[in-house]
Amino acid sequence: MLLKQIVDSLNNFLKSEDIADYCPNGLQIANSGVVHKVCTAVTASLEAIEGAAQLGANLLLVHHGYFWKGESHPIVDMKYHRIAALMKHDIALVAYHLPLDIHPVLGNNAEIGRHLGLKIKEWGRPDGRLPLVALSEYPEGQDLDRVVQQCELIFRRTPLVIAGGTHPIRRITWCSGGAQDYILEAKKMGADAYISGEVSERTYYQARELGIHYLACGHHATERFGIQALGEWLHQQFKLPVTFLESENPV
Ligand SMILES: [Zn+2]
Repeated sequence: MLLKQIVDSLNNFLKSEDIADYCPNGLQIANSGVVHKVCTAVTASLEAIEGAAQLGANLLLVHHGYFWKGESHPIVDMKYHRIAALMKHDIALVAYHLPLDIHPVLGNNAEIGRHLGLKIKEWGRPDGRLPLVALSEYPEGQDLDRVVQQCELIFRRTPLVIAGGTHPIRRITWCSGGAQDYILEAKKMGADAYISGEVSERTYYQARELGIHYLACGHHATERFGIQALGEWLHQQFKLPVTFLESENPV
C-alpha cells in the first residue's frame, strides 16, 4: 500500500485540513513510500518507535507527534534520536492531534462516552472554537463513587478525585488529555462532574468553588481510545495489520 494513499484517506476521514491546531496534522515524517504494517501509539516516543521497528512496521500513527507550536526548531538531542530512529527503520510518522480529539465517531471524547455507556447530548466549545467538551446525563442521578469506579475500570488508572460537594451527578462532562482548565466550560454547561486527564494545583480550588466533582484520570490513559479506534478503521479500510503499542505512562 502506498503511504500517500493512506495519508490522503486519513486526512479526508478526519477532515484534518479544516482544523486549526498547534502542530501539523497528517504526515509529519515520510518513509520511502510503501506501507505493509502499521503501529499505533498515543505518543511518538523513542519507546514507541523501537516497538514499531521491532514489529517491522513502516508507519507509526499517533495522537502526539512532533513540531509543536513554540517548540525550538533544531533537530537535536531527544528529537534527533527519535527522528534518526524513524529514518533508520524507514518508518513514516503520521499524527492527528485535535482532529482525533473531536471526531464525532472515533475521537477520544466520543470513545470515552462509548466506554462509559453514555450518549453524548451536547458539545461545549471552549473559547467558541472546537467541540471539545462532551456532555451526557444520568436521568436518575449517579453517585460520585460509582463514576470513580467506572473510570478506574475503563482507564485502568486510579483517578485523582476532587469532590466539588456532596451532590449526585446528573450532568456529566469530559474532555481527554490536559484539559483541566475546561472545567470553566463544564460549569457553563451546567455540569455536576467533569472528567479530564491532567490536574493543576488550581483545579482543586476551581472544583470546590464551582461545585463540580473533578476526576483526573490521566492524560495518556484518556487518550488511548481514539488512536486505537483509528487504527481499527485503517485496518478495515486497507486490510493492513495494525498493532497498538501500549505504554505504562502514569501521567
Ligand atoms: Zn494529549
